[in-house]
Amino acid sequence: MPSYLITGTSRGIGLGLVKELLKNPENQVLATARNPDTAQGLQELRKQYPDTKRLILLSLDISKPETITKAAEDAEKLLPNGLDVLINNAGIIRHTFATWDEINTDEFLEELGLNTTSILHILRAFKALIAKSAQKKVIVITSLGGSIEFAGHAPNYALTYSVSKAALNMLIRRWGKVYKEEESITTILIHPGWVATDMGLADYEAAQKIFPGASPISVEESTTGILKLTDEAKLEDSVRYVAYDGTVIPW
Ligand code: NDP
Repeated sequence: MPSYLITGTSRGIGLGLVKELLKNPENQVLATARNPDTAQGLQELRKQYPDTKRLILLSLDISKPETITKAAEDAEKLLPNGLDVLINNAGIIRHTFATWDEINTDEFLEELGLNTTSILHILRAFKALIAKSAQKKVIVITSLGGSIEFAGHAPNYALTYSVSKAALNMLIRRWGKVYKEEESITTILIHPGWVATDMGLADYEAAQKIFPGASPISVEESTTGILKLTDEAKLEDSVRYVAYDGTVIPW
């Protein structure tokens, strides 16, 4: 039974990944969220999948190291054969349309921390459990906005977010290189596409002006693509930076 642990599953892409994974009765899914008890989407899945060995709901706030440690301890007890796939999905965006002169640097720091150092806390806490598994895979949901090559495409769009995702990309590229060699862990960075979630649809009209003619894809299209790439990922692919449809993104 392949096991998956996903962060940020209360809504959006994270919830979509949980739904998609549960369609395969072989999969065991540890769905984590800040407050799983009050997350409507997760509670509906709980009713649909009452088997508490297949769907496990855990509290995990990626900005709170103590909750990460507790979730890792719970996962260790539940997974004697290790954690096959960790999907780092939770992330935030601030200042979507602010200029460099308008950005609040305290909020910038919060965004940078949540999208980078929080991921490092997660990786540290779960690495041993991943290394113990058969598949040994780490998937990190990043953004096309983190591509340095792509910078400048939309000069005043998601400025600090793109800095945080570029930093995440470097963190993951370097982390993945070390643990590919030391632990045979396969690590992949995936851009989920422009997806119709709360994040993807915030300021939709303004985004349309920046990307005329573009429209967001469904959560299903994004998550099936992400999970296909996850299934196909091999150690030699570590560390690739790709979109949900497999398109390679320049760093
Ligand atoms: P949403 O804003 O729709 O959902 C974000 C999820 O992350 C929620 O479940 C939220 O939980 C969770 N989250 C936020 N902060 C924390 C935290 N401290 N601890 C745990 N969970 C947290 O975003 P998406 O689903 O659209 O985005 C998912 C990922 O995809 C992100 O990393 C994002 O950067 C990336 N992405 C999305 C794109 C898009 O078009 N949608 C484009 C490119 C990248 P809560 O309900 O508790 O707030």
